[in-house]
Amino acid sequence: MSGNRTFTMIKPDATTAGNTGKILDKIIESGFTIRAMKWTQLSKEDASRFYEVHKERPFYGELVEYMTSGPIVAAILEKENAVEAFRNLIGATDPSKAEEGTIRKMFAKSIAANAVHGSDSDENAAIEGAFFFSSREQA
Ligand code: GDP
Repeated sequence: MSGNRTFTMIKPDATTAGNTGKILDKIIESGFTIRAMKWTQLSKEDASRFYEVHKERPFYGELVEYMTSGPIVAAILEKENAVEAFRNLIGATDPSKAEEGTIRKMFAKSIAANAVHGSDSDENAAIEGAFFFSSREQA
């Protein structure tokens, strides 16, 4: 059975472009409840650790650099079948391939600066949520 929570970040391209409020509206309108949220900035060490699963990929260095280039908003979201529902809402990694109406189609600038993160499994949603929020903060 799939879980009802996922984890998201609004990425630096979207926060610095002033799109945080519009993206949060879209998330809430799509039926997600925000269970925890913070505006913060990742250090190089934070971003390297968060994206460690991608460390063998050729874009890892660029990804870490980009994710530390401005503020991010981290949030835990709740909805039935949350991981899949949220991946559908954000659209494909590359915004030029994302469907109309998805958050990445509407707000992403490129495959790297793609506006939002969404966990890809229940297991990663729990790990990523715990990266930013204590158990009390995500009750
Ligand atoms: P996601 O699950 O849709 O976020 O995509 P991935 O797990 O494949 O990649 C993680 C993140 O790495 C993406 O959201 C992008 O920010 C970044 N990324 C993916 N592909 C590329 C690429 O080819 N170049 C660069 N610079 N960044 C990329």
